[in-house]
Amino acid sequence: MIAGFGMKKLISCVILFWILLFIGYSVCNSYRYKIKTPMPDIEYKKSIIRDSHNLTYTLEALRPVMGPEELSEFIKANDKNPQIYIPNNINRVKGVYRANLHTHTTNSDGIATVEERMNEAQAYAQKHIKDGYMVLAITDHNTVLGAQEVIRVLERNKNKYTNIKVIPGIEIFTQYQNSKHSFYPMEIHVLTWGINPFDRFLKHEFYKKDKKDKWNRTTPDRDFDRTITIMSKYGLVGVAHPARYTEEMGKYKYPYITEMFLRYKNLNQNIKFAEIYYQAYEKSYTAKKLGNEYHKYINYINSEAVRLGIIRTGSTDAHGLSIFK
Ligand SMILES: [Zn+2]
Ligand SMILES: [Zn+2]
Repeated sequence: MIAGFGMKKLISCVILFWILLFIGYSVCNSYRYKIKTPMPDIEYKKSIIRDSHNLTYTLEALRPVMGPEELSEFIKANDKNPQIYIPNNINRVKGVYRANLHTHTTNSDGIATVEERMNEAQAYAQKHIKDGYMVLAITDHNTVLGAQEVIRVLERNKNKYTNIKVIPGIEIFTQYQNSKHSFYPMEIHVLTWGINPFDRFLKHEFYKKDKKDKWNRTTPDRDFDRTITIMSKYGLVGVAHPARYTEEMGKYKYPYITEMFLRYKNLNQNIKFAEIYYQAYEKSYTAKKLGNEYHKYINYINSEAVRLGIIRTGSTDAHGLSIFK
């Protein structure tokens, strides 16, 4: 009798143990899921509406917003397709050109407004892209104001932007420190796409205090590692124009880029990407000065991205009037 009771107790304990283990595993897994994968787009858009505290904002008006989920699929599908990022005449006329994932507006040091950028993309796509849309990211320097403006423009112009997908983003200046290959910290620019520009933390971190301060250099010591770690919880984080840092790197540039990519890869919890198909390289001062050596370097960066599973993306990093330059 007593032995039977003990056995029952033991069985209950074992069952309870497994139930608790299962609950613990599920909780941990859901936590991990939240951090490691991009937020579902519908939840992303709902969070923008909620945090904007504007009762007139609707999901329907945010239809042209491309969220982290859809964008992940888009860049994965185009990793080997640089032509969609190259706005030369042929690609434009044929409608092959269909993504500019890094542009600036009057909210930082760009000349065009957010609305002008979106209008140009819409007019181009309407005329040339017959089977899809043009993807445009607004990524102003160190501020969420450009991304906020995207949402406001969409709200003001419901049903106008039928041929584009637009990404609220940001480009952040960071200091890459403690490298084995350099005594000096390097300024590396970090892109984040699919941010909620009304999020309390982001608004606090990336809000221009002075309108004249186009670069918002209020926190010049923003660390690369810390930025990647934190921002990967707020959107898709990638390395902007990796070949831009050549000149400062000098002869250490090859191991430096590998070190930087590896550090980025280990700290970023989401999909990995870098701007390998960057359109401003060819025209840059560094490219002209270094000639063939520069092309060799770009090829090296490209092969390192492929080796490390970093998706290759592209842009014009537009600052002028047009998204094509
Ligand atoms: Zn930059
Ligand atoms: Zn830029």
